[in-house]
Parts: sequence; structure tokens; C-alpha cells
Amino acid sequence: MKLLVTFSSKEGKRPIIAQVVRDTGVLVNVERAMIESNEGEALIDIPEESCRIVKDRLTELGAAVRILEDEILLDETECVDCGACISICPQEVFSFDREFKLQMDAKRCVLCGRCIEICPHRALSRKGEL
Ligand code: SF4
Ligand code: SF4
Repeated sequence: MKLLVTFSSKEGKRPIIAQVVRDTGVLVNVERAMIESNEGEALIDIPEESCRIVKDRLTELGAAVRILEDEILLDETECVDCGACISICPQEVFSFDREFKLQMDAKRCVLCGRCIEICPHRALSRKGEL
């Protein structure tokens, strides 16, 4: 299960994820992390059964937590199977089937957003941002 964790840069200077691992005993896989001047953001992957304990501990430490589920959506009526998203995706989420029709394995997605930007037909979007 993927969680998007947002925290102020002040909190980001502390090893917040490491602290959660230590406090909860849950192994956390950090798939993406970015710290800017005022805010930091990390995308983490954890076992589904540990979601509540990890989310609660992150919240106690001052982070905002959003649970992400299949957030990249493909509008098949707009897709022209050009393959641009296959080239740009770092996670190999997209592929062609034998008929060169686009296939998507959303579980691999780390929500970097590159495919949304590159799609010439605006066939990709984040859930809730259609
Ligand atoms: S970039 Fe857009 S139009 Fe091209 S294959 Fe991917 S989803 Fe379809
Ligand atoms: S958001 Fe990033 S990881 Fe997810 S499908 Fe698009 S390019 Fe791939």
C-alpha cells in the first residue's frame, strides 16, 4: 500500500521515516522523496496490514499522510497507443500487448507524474483530477 507523506522542511531535516521504522517495527520502502525549501514529500510503500500504525505514527510526528490507491487513470477512449508513456515511465507500468494496444500495471506506479505530462492526448490523469 502506498502512502504520500508531506512534511515541513523542518521535520524533513529529522529522519522521520527512519523514526517510524524504529518505533513501529514496520519495514518501509521509500519509492520517491523530494525536499524543497519549505516542504518535503515522500512516497512510501508498506504492507497493507501496517497502514494504520504507520499512518498514525507519521501523523504524531507532524506529517500529513494520504493513502494512494491506483491513482493514475487511463482513459482508453483518448489513448491512441503512441507509446510515449512507455518510454518515459521509470517503473515499466506501461507495455504493449501483441496487438500494440497499451496495457497498464498500475501497482508498479510511484506517481512521479511524468506520463501525465508527456501524453499528447491527455489520456492519463491522477484519480480525482480528471
Ligand atoms: S502517451 Fe497517452 S496516448 Fe500515448 S500510449 Fe500513453 S496513454 Fe496512450
Ligand atoms: S506516474 Fe510515473 S511511475 Fe506512474 S505510471 Fe506515470 S510515469 Fe510511470
